[in-house]
Amino acid sequence: MRLRIFTTLFLVTSAQFAWGQTSGSAKLATAEATASEPSADSYAVLGATPEQEALVRAQIRVMQPGVYPLRVLFVPHWKYIHAARTFHLRVPAGYTSKLFTHLPSRSVFIDRDRYVSDDSLGYWVAHELGHLAANNVSESDADKAARNYRKRLNDARKRAVH
Ligand SMILES: [Zn+2]
Repeated sequence: MRLRIFTTLFLVTSAQFAWGQTSGSAKLATAEATASEPSADSYAVLGATPEQEALVRAQIRVMQPGVYPLRVLFVPHWKYIHAARTFHLRVPAGYTSKLFTHLPSRSVFIDRDRYVSDDSLGYWVAHELGHLAANNVSESDADKAARNYRKRLNDARKRAVH
């Protein structure tokens, strides 16, 4: 299991290096993105327990994001830190420090050792999907796009309770 996850991450990471180093990087990323539309469930969830995968897929289905991720990766903390460094991310202290999104590959990374509850996972996944919808790294743009997603999550939660 661990080996499989590592191999998958390695492949994803290698792909990023390849994209980053060629002038056709945007084209490659676009081709992959286009190929995956429009099926909402066609993205990969990697490294998750069956429960985590079911949860995150259900949450994303409820949120109906304008742009879907290509991959959602649950990674152990050390791997999360490594990936963040690899992508030269500036992760603001205390802010989305349990999840981040690599926009060119539409990959959402989740620190599986640190996210605290199912509800908080949905809240932060909404923020990351907001980055994808806005297609930029602005935190305020991401939160703005996330507002509708969070509302849909809350509405679904209320329906489930009553
Ligand atoms: Zn963010």
